[in-house]
Amino acid sequence: MPQEIIKDIHFKGQKSKVMNPAKMWINTYNEKEQKVRAIKTLLNFWGIAALCILIPIAHFLLVPLFFIMGIMKSMKLLHKAEDGLYAEGNCPACEKQIKLNLDNNADLPQWIDCPNCKQAIELNQ
Ligand SMILES: [Zn+2]
Repeated sequence: MPQEIIKDIHFKGQKSKVMNPAKMWINTYNEKEQKVRAIKTLLNFWGIAALCILIPIAHFLLVPLFFIMGIMKSMKLLHKAEDGLYAEGNCPACEKQIKLNLDNNADLPQWIDCPNCKQAIELNQ
């Protein structure tokens, strides 16, 4: 099971130099969990590739596509120890409490638009 941790970060505005403290929720995976996750992803993609054999003509494209995508996606997951879940804090521009979906990206810094005022926010240490 991945472990959920909360990291202290800052929301920084694009124009204003305000830095608001924020929190970031992250799923962390140990080495074994990373391998299991990568293998599961690979098998899922190859399963889809196997099913695509049944589709006439399109299988010439779909089978190699899912075969290669499975390898690429699982290689990426194999070296990815953290999944960013969401971040919460006050927007530096509009000062409202916001919750940002991180789409599994835990890299810092990253830029996300405020859902309220549409200003770009920098998520940083
Ligand atoms: Zn805002």
